[in-house]
Amino acid sequence: MMESFKIIADPKKCTGCRICQFICSSLYHHEFNPSKSYIIILDEYELSPTIQFSDKCNHCGQCARNCLYGALKLEGEGIS
Ligand code: SF4
Ligand code: SF4
Repeated sequence: MMESFKIIADPKKCTGCRICQFICSSLYHHEFNPSKSYIIILDEYELSPTIQFSDKCNHCGQCARNCLYGALKLEGEGIS
């Protein structure tokens, strides 16, 4: 069974880079297409974008593992 994680989002650290969305859409739709991602970044040009997850998110944690800016963390893994 796939591991499942609670993901903690810290919008203050989010740069709006969309890497998380590219990862998710490539994993589950085989496309680099943010609109098909299960993590949703709103107002990405603002200082603190809004980070949401759709109902289809399975909590695989790959978006968090690939966020380079510390805006997504897996619960229990170095949350500060
Ligand atoms: S959550 Fe991380 S990977 Fe996603 S847009 Fe923000 S900084 Fe980029
Ligand atoms: S936890 Fe997995 S399914 Fe959910 S948004 Fe992140 S990459 Fe997509």
